Amino acid sequence: MTTLTKTEDAPAPTGPEGFLSVRDLKVRFSTEDGIVKAVDGLSFDVERGRTLGIVGESGSGKSVTNLTVLGLHSPRTTTIEGEILLDGKELVTATERELERLRGNKMAMIFQDPLTALSPYYTVGRQLSEPYMKHRGASKKEAKDRAIQMLEKVGIPQPKVRFDDYPHQFSGGMRQRAMIAMALMCDPELLIADEPTTALDVTVQAQILDLLKDLQQEFGSAIVFITHDLGVISSMADDLLVMYAGRAVERGSVKEVLRSPKHPYTWGLLSSMPRLDGDINQALDPIPGSPPSLLNPPSGCPFHPRCAFKDQVAGDLCSQERPTLAAGRAAACHLTAEQKQTIFIDKIQPRLR
Ligand code: SF4
Repeated sequence: MTTLTKTEDAPAPTGPEGFLSVRDLKVRFSTEDGIVKAVDGLSFDVERGRTLGIVGESGSGKSVTNLTVLGLHSPRTTTIEGEILLDGKELVTATERELERLRGNKMAMIFQDPLTALSPYYTVGRQLSEPYMKHRGASKKEAKDRAIQMLEKVGIPQPKVRFDDYPHQFSGGMRQRAMIAMALMCDPELLIADEPTTALDVTVQAQILDLLKDLQQEFGSAIVFITHDLGVISSMADDLLVMYAGRAVERGSVKEVLRSPKHPYTWGLLSSMPRLDGDINQALDPIPGSPPSLLNPPSGCPFHPRCAFKDQVAGDLCSQERPTLAAGRAAACHLTAEQKQTIFIDKIQPRLR
């Protein structure tokens, strides 16, 4: 059974309350090997008309967080604590019926894998039209016109003809675009995009990103954009949350975080990115080690087993005490502000040039 619990000692909000407001979210999975702490005390806000980018390695909790917002977790094995408010409506304690009414209408998700979202048994057109009829009370004709219009918008050639195709008749890239059209059918006020353009070529990727920006301008939608591609994030997002081991480790505006990152994990992510203008013979600088097991996460700072700078913190603080993320522009790290500044200028910035 899903345990739905509101924590009594949730931390103070980390900024002005957003259209989507997540407070001290904890998501745990029961497995045969024990309890996986997939998300461990996460708080963030997304305001209308703004895009929050979430970055982090696989297993950092990005996708789990967003599936939880949509209520798409497995109720049998998942325990959720904390608060998720969408336009003031509490989602953690919402019934499945209430969530169904919100999904595809007020909030929608673009999945990484189109086969997750598209049924092989129904035509693409039917899968686009039916939610529109249900949520908007539209006629069959209105829904079909809208679906054809959306297929055209996302770059599906001959949309009137392709409306009657089944997903297997679409190429992988076209399925991805059809899924994006499906998510946008009802002009959702909250759109969660999980690596939405990873499988697409650069030209289509640019078209889709432009489409999302247009939607946002037209309807003031709040967007949560999950990706490992910091290049895409810099063009799409207003604010950025860096996640590691189910926690937020750095937060700020995209410009602040990408120009002046303050957390050793963010330094690692940026240093490991290939650079278009760099020397092609120059080896990449990967983060040593691998992400921790969330069955038994490290004590203290979860990044300490991989951190090259923990020796600059006095005593064993890094392995013993969990650093907290302060409000606003912040990084959860025991290094002093002066140390962060000096290390960034002397050691990290030269690698990013
Ligand atoms: Fe590294 Fe310590 Fe900062 Fe964690 S708290 S990122 S281990 S310096």
